[in-house]
Amino acid sequence: MSMSAALRREVRGRANDCCEYCQLPQSRFRLVAFHVEHVIARQHGGSDDALNLCLACHWCNLFKGPNLSSLHDGQLVRLFSPREDEWKDHFQLIDGAIIGLTPIGIATVNLLNMNDPDRVELRS
Ligand SMILES: [Zn+2]
Repeated sequence: MSMSAALRREVRGRANDCCEYCQLPQSRFRLVAFHVEHVIARQHGGSDDALNLCLACHWCNLFKGPNLSSLHDGQLVRLFSPREDEWKDHFQLIDGAIIGLTPIGIATVNLLNMNDPDRVELRS
């Protein structure tokens, strides 16, 4: 990894130590550090620039992988981008569950498995 400690700190601070996809706070996990994740994966040409990085919990990081898009109602839609999109434009938090408000939000909730019961409980 070529990413510097300073760059990781910058990404963490910008995210207020919360997952930028599902908003879980790092403070709920003492033993597992959240990932500094590429919004556009390296294999698609994404850079190590802060503008292409976000903080992601281990679940969001795992399920997103290198994906950039998913299907919603048979249509290919891009995933939510923490760098280009406003979270509140695409998601709503209700009793710990994350509701997608747009095709982008719905596709991202589904692909990243955001409403796994364990994760809903952690957010409740
Ligand atoms: Zn997450």
